[in-house]
Amino acid sequence: MPGVESQTRIKRHLNELGLRSQLRARPRIQGRVLAPAGMFRRLPTSTGLYFPFYHDVLPEYAGDLRRHLQSFKRLGPMVTWDEALEVLAGRRDLSGPMFCLSFDDAHLSWRDVVAPMLRELRVPATFFVTTGLVGQTGNLTWPDLRDLLAQGFQFGSHTVTHQRLADQDDAASLHEIRFSKDRLEQELGVEVRDFAAPYGSLVDYGDREVSAAREAGYRSFASTLRAPMLPGDSPMFIQRQGLHPAWPLWAVRTRVHD
Ligand SMILES: [Zn+2]
Repeated sequence: MPGVESQTRIKRHLNELGLRSQLRARPRIQGRVLAPAGMFRRLPTSTGLYFPFYHDVLPEYAGDLRRHLQSFKRLGPMVTWDEALEVLAGRRDLSGPMFCLSFDDAHLSWRDVVAPMLRELRVPATFFVTTGLVGQTGNLTWPDLRDLLAQGFQFGSHTVTHQRLADQDDAASLHEIRFSKDRLEQELGVEVRDFAAPYGSLVDYGDREVSAAREAGYRSFASTLRAPMLPGDSPMFIQRQGLHPAWPLWAVRTRVHD
């Protein structure tokens, strides 16, 4: 009875998806579920460039984010996106672990929680902005973003509408990549040369997007593949490690490890 069998498989798959999205909605529990796997991993001690990234950092998770950042800082330098690209190009030394931090979307907590902490800890970061979210309820405004820029943070594009680029037709995909860059440059008055694809795995974008980004004038393109990077690796295939501030360090170790 192949029909029944495949129905069972689909049902099981949906249950797994349901469980996964429930876990995403409860990051503390998600962190606890992930943590045992971190027992067999350690935070990096050998040479590699890591790109941990976050989204929203609600005030109740501020202490946890601080613990993550302090752990990274103990292991190696935290550098700007510019400096990380210099490392990939072989123009800057890499010995031991190095970390380059970023944040995605347009969360209010960047202004209220993240930026004050990063300034205090002297940690640089790049904010990848979804331009269509700016000014929407619960998100930052353009003046907020200009203020973050004035504080010394860097900016990249995270599209206009945050849809999966692979689902778009050619014109729409191109628009997401180009128009977000133009808008950010108009509003911030600086050149924007770094791009992070929404969702960022290999089913979410493809060569079409990387070529379009290159033609639009971007110098880097970030995915959410997790491996550490080394000099010589392509800046058009930056591999970032998605983290949630609510996770215990053992869960962080499942994403950021040697
Ligand atoms: Zn995003």
